[in-house]
Amino acid sequence: MRALALVLLLAGCGGEPALRRPNVLVLSIDTLRADHLGCYGYERPTSPRIDALADRGVLFESARAPSSWTLPTMTTALTSFEASTHGTTHFTKRLSDGFETLPERLRDAGYDTAGFSTNFLFSRRYGLRQGFIHFDETLARSSDPERLETGEPLADRGVQWIRWKAESSDDAPWLLWLHFFDPHWEYVPHEGITERFGTERVDLYDGEVAFTDLQVGRVLDALEEGGLADDTIVVLFSDHGEEFEDHGMTLHGHTLFGELVRVPLIVRAPGFTPRRVAGNVGLVDLLPTLIELVGLAPPPTAGGRSLVPAMRGATLPERATLLELHRATRPLSGLVEGPWKLIRATNPPEETLFHLGDDPGETADRRASDADVGDRMSARLDAELARSRRRAAGFSAETDVGLLPGDVQRIEDLGYAGDR
Ligand SMILES: [Zn+2]
Repeated sequence: MRALALVLLLAGCGGEPALRRPNVLVLSIDTLRADHLGCYGYERPTSPRIDALADRGVLFESARAPSSWTLPTMTTALTSFEASTHGTTHFTKRLSDGFETLPERLRDAGYDTAGFSTNFLFSRRYGLRQGFIHFDETLARSSDPERLETGEPLADRGVQWIRWKAESSDDAPWLLWLHFFDPHWEYVPHEGITERFGTERVDLYDGEVAFTDLQVGRVLDALEEGGLADDTIVVLFSDHGEEFEDHGMTLHGHTLFGELVRVPLIVRAPGFTPRRVAGNVGLVDLLPTLIELVGLAPPPTAGGRSLVPAMRGATLPERATLLELHRATRPLSGLVEGPWKLIRATNPPEETLFHLGDDPGETADRRASDADVGDRMSARLDAELARSRRRAAGFSAETDVGLLPGDVQRIEDLGYAGDR
């Protein structure tokens, strides 16, 4: 299998056409704060397996989700469009079929594509199974409210899929996307794991992270044991973080502060030297990056850009990262550029400005003291939002999911208030 990967690498230098593209394993972990992983500086031992993956891959130190809850951010990861473009910003909205997702692009290039989801928002109903030939969402909690642990059966399915592929004579490359849910509320203790952290709210959360890390490790082991690690790109990211009263609240989906939008992003790809990338990037960049890594033509339009040059050691030109939270009562938007972050609330209108270098916790508002920067960021935010909305004009607006009886209860069970 190693020889095949080499053929692909040589193809870029004018050799024979590629025989086989690399496999892609995507590990998305719900509600995982970047700063609760060892490789992002956490002092607790929550993540030995993810840390080991980061040691052999490229770790993006300043990666951001485009929002602070699952539906808009997973849609952005799948499409490379910002929330104002894809429109999947509310529990009542589904992604229009007119968008082309990463699995669709890979399927059309000859990939076998499988997705296993444990979150009812990452689902067929929300238009997010587009392009997955196989899609299994039976582990999502909405189908079994008593099931508060899904990482182990999810990893079982992943391990099974990888073994099946390792033994197959079918040489088609594959995409396997596993979406883990355990760090999401509600937090449950895991025997033999959670005890080492304690019994407070944050301890239980760290236990969930450590449990998920163990399950991620099982999937990565299967890749090694199947002899597929050298032919497989591995991507690990989170859809958003979680708040532990950093700004006076808990859970997620209510603000655009760092504890909710700073996410881990790690890419391990054959032929790339391990490194850490400091510049601002986003989940919006995931699709163009993977498309380039597997050797396909870049998408004609995208909200993001390929991070492959940064993976090779180049410094990325600074580009503003757009943040959006389309709450019914108090919509928020924001922009990160260089060391600065602007957050805008409407209803009533209010802007706050933070210098992330001096104030990573986003506690000291400098909108008045650095008015010039704030004005520039504010104008830039207007321009970025307008650009994102203009791009939506090319797509069908038919996005009503049609809520079913009991949906509101299921949404509340996940800890989301009725503010959407
Ligand atoms: Zn989520």
